[in-house]
This record gives sequence, structure tokens and C-alpha cells, in this order.
Amino acid sequence: MTTTDTSRHLGATTRTDVLVVGAGLAGLHTATLLARQGHDVLLVDRRTDLTGAIRTTGIFVRKTLDDFPLPSEHLGPPIRRVVLYPPGMRHPVSLTSGRDEYRVGDMAPLYAAAADAATDAGVRTALGTRYVGRRGDAFHLVGRCGPTVVRARFVVGADGARSTVARDLALDRNHHLLVGAEEVFELPGSDEPPTFHCVLDPSFAPGYLAWVVNDGRHAHVGVAGYADRFPDGLRRALERFGASAPGLTGVARPEVVERRGGPIPVGGVLRRIGCPDGLLVGDAAGAVSPLTAGGLDPCLRLSELAAAVLDDALRTGRPDVSAAYDGAALRARFRGRLMLRRGLAQVRTPTMAAVAFRLLRTPFGRAAAERVLFGDRSFPGPGHG
Ligand SMILES: Cc1cc2nc3c(=O)[nH]c(=O)nc-3n(C[C@H](O)[C@H](O)[C@H](O)COP(=O)(O)OP(=O)(O)OC[C@H]3O[C@@H](n4cnc5c(N)ncnc54)[C@H](O)[C@@H]3O)c2cc1C
Repeated sequence: MTTTDTSRHLGATTRTDVLVVGAGLAGLHTATLLARQGHDVLLVDRRTDLTGAIRTTGIFVRKTLDDFPLPSEHLGPPIRRVVLYPPGMRHPVSLTSGRDEYRVGDMAPLYAAAADAATDAGVRTALGTRYVGRRGDAFHLVGRCGPTVVRARFVVGADGARSTVARDLALDRNHHLLVGAEEVFELPGSDEPPTFHCVLDPSFAPGYLAWVVNDGRHAHVGVAGYADRFPDGLRRALERFGASAPGLTGVARPEVVERRGGPIPVGGVLRRIGCPDGLLVGDAAGAVSPLTAGGLDPCLRLSELAAAVLDDALRTGRPDVSAAYDGAALRARFRGRLMLRRGLAQVRTPTMAAVAFRLLRTPFGRAAAERVLFGDRSFPGPGHG
């Protein structure tokens, strides 16, 4: 079956067990799991087409690839090699894993496949439909055919880093954010092994990394950092980086490229992410690694926990999900990564980055980098440790 957009059939009022706001990976996965458990689910997204306005590079880590059945035909070749560069990009440190560590998703067909899976499970999906707020026990949408009032037992905020649902449920909200932007273009193939190039230079990426992912099929060239610290703005930083980016020798940037970007919450999973009326998943819940800024694995795992908790609440009639869905308990598992994020945030100049980079050349530094880049840890979730 292919995704059916039900936005034209919503009407002035509708009822559902669960209203899921946002059809990114977190919302799609949560909605599908709940519908498979037999619940009535309405999934809405303001975008009219889920394959447009993509906000992610789409790097999936090994643990996700092991634990979730992502369609292999929409994943790029496995990547085992990471090259880390200091400011100036001379004498990089190259790390190669003995295992396949990453694959880059072809995100448009991956979102389409996830939306089809939601439809197959029985989810009603309404695109071009914006959640505008809550009044009492009614949730208000505005879609292609005008406003709709939704009465739902629960609402799920899967509406990204700046969640409106979090505001309306009086739950915690993300305040510690990076912004990222990248260009994506096809490659004719490459003799080089698929490689993830990471540049630690605050003049391109203040507080984070600039990157090139070249898996032989696509190039992703991007920068991310604290919005107020880019010396000449995010867009200009991406242009400057693109002009000198590593890993693309002999590759000409085409005239037309796909542009992606958006905020990345890095303050760690929020403490209050559930209440009697609903809960938050994905970026809305701050479920992103504070250190690597990877959010795809966390959003899939937290969605599983959310769906299990809501299923239980719907079946038993016990409404308060906050005890079983406790961000503070999950957050405690991220203390180390939050500390390292604070450290990375302090690297404010290329000179400081060059000094910090010296550590990466030592056996201790290499081992630490390998643990972060090739480690087995992932976001805690039901059944996945
Ligand atoms: C540039 C960039 C690169 C990244 N690269 C990676 C990576 O390679 N690997 C990785 O693991 N993580 C990466 N991340 C992080 C990762 O992409 C996110 O953590 C993840 O996609 C979050 O999914 P989500 O479903 O929670 O949110 P989103 O994908 O942001 O989905 C939120 C959805 O909510 C909808 N929405 C918002 N408000 C409303 C509203 N009021 N009404 C209706 N709909 C609404 C939006 O249209 C959107 O579809 C990257 C992030 C950025 C910004």
C-alpha cells in the first residue's frame, strides 16, 4: 500500500485514541507501533510531502542497523573509515574499524517507506496539516480544508526541537541547541573507501564539527555549531567550508545541490517528557546524543518506549504516563556525554582546537575517539539496553 493522505477527510471535528504531531522518524515510528497494537492513531504533519525539507544527514550507526529493520535498498554502502582533521586540515588522524560502522540513509525513500508502513498499520495520516494549539481538552489543527478540532486520549509531541506540543503540555523544552546545515549531491562513484571526514575547527563549526561524508554514491558537506558563534553566519561558514572541504579531491560541486538544515538539541534528554495528557518523542524530548548530535538512533528507541507506555495506559485506563516515561531517569545515563559536550563547547578558537587535537594523536586520545565513534553504546530503550 502507499501512503494515503487523509487530510481532506478530517472534517470540523474528529476523535482518536492518540494524536501524533510530526511525521519525522520519531512520529512515524511511534504512530506505526501504536496502530499495530490496535489503537486509533491520527498522525499530522505541516509538510505536504514527507520526502521534502529533510533535516538530517541520515547517518545510521551500527547499533541502529543491527536492531531496526531499515530497508537495505535505501541505505548507502557501509562506512568503516573516519578521518579527523585539526584546523588547517594538515596531518589528520585516520581511524578504521574492523566492522561496518555507519550507513547513510537515502532519506526521501526511507521516509516514504516509513509512511507506507504507518498506513499499512492503519494510521490515519494528514499532511499539510498544522497543529496550532490546545484549548482545554481539544487540540486544534489547520489543514488544507480548514480547521479541525481533535479530541484525543493522548497527544504525542513528535514535532521536533522547538516543540509546540511540549509548550502546550507544560513539559520541558529544549534550550541548548546547535544549528546545522549541509549540501548533498550525487557522486559518480569513487575508488576511495567510503569515509566520514570530520573537521574540528571552530571557525567553521563553533562547538561542534564540520563534515564531509563521501560513501561513493553521495557527498554530504556540512557544518554545525552554536548559532551565535559563527564568525560570519551559518550559511557563509558552509560556503567557506565547501570551498576547502576534504575528501572530495577531483569532485566538482554541481550547480544544483540539495540543501538541508535545522536545529539540533544537545542539552540531553529533557527531564519532564510525559504527563497525563501525553508525551514527547525524538528531538522534542531532547533525545539526541549531546556529544555526537546523533538523533536517529535515540528517536527510534524512545519511540518504542513511548508506544509501550501509551499502549499500557490505553489498555489499563491508567492515565499518568509520567512515572513509566521519566526523562530524568534516562538523562542520568548521559552524564559522561553531557560533560564532554560542555568540554567541546569551551573550544572557542582554532588555536584551542589545535591544542585539543594533539590529544587525539596520543594512544589514549585515539582509543577515546574510537570508543565514541565505533562504540557499542546507544540510547537506552526497551529491550535494547
Ligand atoms: C543538519 C543535521 C544533520 C543531522 N544528521 C544526523 C545524522 O547524520 N545522524 C543522526 O543520528 N542524527 C542526525 N541529526 C539529528 C536527527 O536528524 C534528528 O535527531 C532526528 O531526525 C529527529 O527526528 P524527529 O522525528 O524527532 O524530528 P523531525 O525529523 O524534525 O520531525 C519533526 C516533524 O514535525 C513537523 N512539525 C513541526 N511542528 C509542527 C506542527 N506545529 N504541526 C505539524 N507538524 C509539525 C515537522 O514538519 C517535521 O516533519 C541531524 C540533524 C541536523 C539538523
